[in-house]
Amino acid sequence: MDGDNSSMITVNEAKTTGDIIHPKHVVAVICRSCGYDLDEAEVNADTCSSCGETLELRQNTTIYATTLPAASGSTLV
Ligand SMILES: [Zn+2]
Repeated sequence: MDGDNSSMITVNEAKTTGDIIHPKHVVAVICRSCGYDLDEAEVNADTCSSCGETLELRQNTTIYATTLPAASGSTLV
């Protein structure tokens, strides 16, 4: 944990529970209008400090796919 980091970004490291693999994923709180990455103070504001619109929060989850073994054969799309 980094106590100096006031960002609203939550990093969840990859882990395995039984047979289920949870890939690493990052959850960020962003502005609905412009996608600006808000920090802790900005989340409580009335307007977005980036685009100036009335602030509506949105959670943005980014999943980092784990590195898979190279698959042989054809690739199905
Ligand atoms: Zn914005």
